[in-house]
Amino acid sequence: MNKIERIRAVMNGQVPDRIPTMTHNFLMAAREGGITMEQFRQSPDAIVRVMTEACEKYDTDGILLDVDTALLASACGADVVYPVDIAAVTQDRQPREIPEILEYLDRLDLENYPRVALYLETIEKLSAWGKRNGVFIRGNADQGSFSLACLLVGMNKFLEDLLDEDCEEELMQLMEATYQVSLKMHRLCHKAGADCTSYGNSSEGCSVISPALFRRFAKPFETRLAAQLNSEGIFTICHICGSVDLILDDLVETGCPMYELDYKTDIVRAKAVAKGHFAISGNIDPALFTTGTPEDIRRVTRALCDLYRGEGGLLIGPGCALGPNTPPENVFAFVETVKQFG
Ligand SMILES: [Zn+2]
Repeated sequence: MNKIERIRAVMNGQVPDRIPTMTHNFLMAAREGGITMEQFRQSPDAIVRVMTEACEKYDTDGILLDVDTALLASACGADVVYPVDIAAVTQDRQPREIPEILEYLDRLDLENYPRVALYLETIEKLSAWGKRNGVFIRGNADQGSFSLACLLVGMNKFLEDLLDEDCEEELMQLMEATYQVSLKMHRLCHKAGADCTSYGNSSEGCSVISPALFRRFAKPFETRLAAQLNSEGIFTICHICGSVDLILDDLVETGCPMYELDYKTDIVRAKAVAKGHFAISGNIDPALFTTGTPEDIRRVTRALCDLYRGEGGLLIGPGCALGPNTPPENVFAFVETVKQFG
């Protein structure tokens, strides 16, 4: 199998010749490629260069294209800071009330917002490279309806509002609007040539909100998105930070075909619950890639390979973004271990 077939096999519920690899490595790739995040944000050619160099250096099966977690939030008018050498982030205190945000989203021309347009141009170029070189390209569609709403309101205020019954109607209106933005972004990433899309509903996991809040505010939109994208032939991966132990059965019910899970989730149980329902991406601790030794990486990678070898269902990699200072020898150790034991 080539790299693309290997990843597609996992997505189609088949057994690949070995477990495919993908790392969430844009911060590290930019650092290794000698450019700042400011330069990375501004040039599709620079992004394509550093991402393809990293893919060739470590010989991973796929590339996850990502620029930061504030792409859609900035398009939606949020207050975003753009540090020179850190990924862009939204300010926690956002100045607008929900009615103002809704009014703004009503007039949003997503495709032509400059950062989105630049990102789509990057997907086009990277996908063309992927097709020439037989590498799978995952175009991240940034945030899902729940996490995007969270960023637009501001994390602290949003979490307070979730607990206030008087805010429910307005929050639901906001999430309907962010759902539409998110759906549009998936379609744009797909149209630009990405082999699959992905998105983060990072803050919907059990490390941030209760299962009850997940079921009320996040799950309905995630379920709708899964059905809609499936009907349009767009395969997607949903990334959730932290633990999802208490909502694993819900993840089966959303119909999303793949979840990217962090190391805090009990992978043995997740595998058992997910089997036959959704594939898993992850779930090695990204911090271990930064602070651990190659021996540590070999140990945890081997354990995950032993759990999944010969069964399908896993796209192996770190469960969240790798830090910019990740030692190269740890990524080499990861890929070599998968090639040997996956
Ligand atoms: Zn994460």
